[in-house]
Amino acid sequence: MSLPGTTGEPPPRHPAAKAPSDARAWLDVPFQDKDAARDRGAQWDPQTRRWYAPRPGILELRRWAALPTLLPTEDRAFGEGLYVDLIPASSWFRNVRTAVSATDWYRIRAMVYARAGDQCETCGRRKSDHVRLDCHERFEYTGQIQRLRRLVCMCSACHQVTHFGHTHLSGRADQALVHLMTVTGMSQAVAAAHIEAAFAQWQQRSAVPWIVDLRMIEAAGVMVHDPRNPAEDTPARHAPAVHHDETSVTIAGDFEPSN
Ligand SMILES: [Zn+2]
Repeated sequence: MSLPGTTGEPPPRHPAAKAPSDARAWLDVPFQDKDAARDRGAQWDPQTRRWYAPRPGILELRRWAALPTLLPTEDRAFGEGLYVDLIPASSWFRNVRTAVSATDWYRIRAMVYARAGDQCETCGRRKSDHVRLDCHERFEYTGQIQRLRRLVCMCSACHQVTHFGHTHLSGRADQALVHLMTVTGMSQAVAAAHIEAAFAQWQQRSAVPWIVDLRMIEAAGVMVHDPRNPAEDTPARHAPAVHHDETSVTIAGDFEPSN
């Protein structure tokens, strides 16, 4: 499957790149901020359905400025494809979503969705197909550093596969398993073994504290509230028990939350 920006094909232009010669600067304004933005000089472009600053450099509008389509040090080839991608229990709730303001999380998601052309980067489904899009955070685990490497635009079905533990708790594990098999072509036995391996890795990673490195976000000029100190009360989670046979996957235990 050919996805924008992943196979040499030029990625869709982020609306920020379409600023006409009048030097307007595009803004990503959450709906609840629209009055505040307007009061500070933001203007609405009905064609692109987007707010903009009439000229660059208006400090009062900087909080809504569109982010660059590639964040500093971000690797958009990191962690390609769809797989179960569990967050260690020792890092729960220490992620981009919880470390930035609601306005900045909106800006980040707006950029991620726009650069992907409002299309899931793992299965290819589009927002116009009436699927919900999420922003998935891909981390690299080295030593005891959990480093953010990439933000991925995913449909909710793919996102539920990545956070399989949370999905299981929500009673949607069967659908997630079918989606994983459909997107990747895995047989049920292979998918079940993959899930089992992911939980074994989760158990190992959950046994140690991680320093969460979100410098990729900070380097883009976004204020990050310190998520780096390992939780003082690192939970002593019981390892989930994963069993599978030819027709089902059974998991029991504590799981990671979605993020
Ligand atoms: Zn998808």
